[in-house]
Amino acid sequence: VGLVVALTGGIGSGKTTVADRLAELGAGVIDTDEISRALTARDGAALEPITAAFGPDIRLADGTLDRTRLRRIVFADPSARARLESILHPLIEATMLERLAGLQTEYAVLVIPLLFETGQERHADRVLVVDVPESVQIARVMQRSGLSEAEVRRIIASQIPRQERNARADDLIDNSGERAALEPRLHELHMTYTRIAAGR
Ligand code: ATP
Repeated sequence: VGLVVALTGGIGSGKTTVADRLAELGAGVIDTDEISRALTARDGAALEPITAAFGPDIRLADGTLDRTRLRRIVFADPSARARLESILHPLIEATMLERLAGLQTEYAVLVIPLLFETGQERHADRVLVVDVPESVQIARVMQRSGLSEAEVRRIIASQIPRQERNARADDLIDNSGERAALEPRLHELHMTYTRIAAGR
């Protein structure tokens, strides 16, 4: 891999949508949300340490993680959240770097939702931010998840503010229009990344 691009954006901004299209154009995509799900799935490497930290009740009768219970616990208790993150983040990071080392594509896209919040910019040569107005974010997340507007607003408020995120981007992609409207910018970014990767 000649270039590593970190892709971030607020909840429901369209990170997966953009990453999927860049993958179709030829990028090697690594999604940290997917890694997190795999680590906490049956036989995932995070399951034992999470059980050791939170007790056997954090597992359902079938041995899988009780995600609802865990979410409730870390939502109510910041120190529990910190404990969970101290287990998950190093494992996610290690898995991401392992996959990155195995990629054969010209450039890589690391999808990292909380890139700035978790200080992971050091892994990337460049940062691409997917941007939408808050109203669009709220509408799309509500439609997809059934969360209430208040719940979506609370999640948005827990993330880095839009202006600050955008200010820290090397590249921006505006996803406020329809999907097809992304195409010219996607092709432009793909060409830019391919060219930079080839020159390094
Ligand atoms: P999350 O942070 O929740 O993982 P995300 O940033 O990966 O979300 P997506 O999952 O790509 O965002 O998009 C959020 C929702 O909005 C999805 O239901 C997706 O289908 C929809 N969506 C994405 N882009 C558009 C668009 N341009 N027009 C209409 N709907 C869109």
